[in-house]
Amino acid sequence: MDRCERILGGLFGVACGDALGGTLEFMSSEEIEREYGYLKDIVGGGCWNLMPGEVTDDTMMTIAVAEGILENPDNPVENIGKQFIKWYDSKPKDIGNIIRIALSEYKRSNDWMKASYYAHQATGGMSAGNGSLMRCLPVALYYNDADKILEITASQSMLTHYDQKAVDACKFYNMLAYRYLNDKLKIPTIEECIEKYPDYKQVFRLTIKNLKPSGYVIDTLVCALWCFINTSTFEDAVCEAANLGGDADTIAAITGGIAGVYYGYDAIPDRWKEKILVKEQLTSIAKRIIKNNCKV
Ligand SMILES: [Mg+2]
Repeated sequence: MDRCERILGGLFGVACGDALGGTLEFMSSEEIEREYGYLKDIVGGGCWNLMPGEVTDDTMMTIAVAEGILENPDNPVENIGKQFIKWYDSKPKDIGNIIRIALSEYKRSNDWMKASYYAHQATGGMSAGNGSLMRCLPVALYYNDADKILEITASQSMLTHYDQKAVDACKFYNMLAYRYLNDKLKIPTIEECIEKYPDYKQVFRLTIKNLKPSGYVIDTLVCALWCFINTSTFEDAVCEAANLGGDADTIAAITGGIAGVYYGYDAIPDRWKEKILVKEQLTSIAKRIIKNNCKV
């Protein structure tokens, strides 16, 4: 599969997971079963009253990371931060707690270190949320060098999430994406990379009943990896993730990102891709990444 298929797959994977899961956010699996059975279509609605194909903060912040990198690939972190503020100023309806606190503090202090530390303190040290993981994929899509990917992946996390657990989750996730972009095998790649991230080894022992679809970054990434590992198509992975409920849009977006890179754009159902309202923006980002990508 060519790289372009995988880059487009990753970006549309995030958006499709986000748009599907957005309908189910904050619902329990019992409520989902009662109301939707098993949701397999992007229908909008839910607690955000979404239009069908409307995406939320997960996709919009992924776009912000990508645009920041494309503006200044050699030193993108300040530009990524500027893109976050631009998005924040657009008054999005769905903004996670840690990110809202960090971005409003940045607007006051103009200092990213202060911003993420402030959010860490203000949440009583609970800054290991999934908000930096949900947006980090473009770093792996853009750069071809593992060390550069790890460095920028960590820095983009630290803009808003002070906790090292958030950094580690982003690094683990983007190392998987980097390897899938280079045509590596599905399960052996996870087994190899997980050695550096022992918090996640439980994923191979859990059943679906043990999964906790919360916003805590370790719970979230365990859910996403579990859904990816225990299915064999893009659609099944993302449906499993969304139908867990809880932080459904973010968990499905993260699952969709990695599954999209691994299975490729063509494996994403057309009925989903067609619905995504920001599809032109995603395609434009993919084209610009591909154009620049061989230079780095
Ligand atoms: Mg969201």
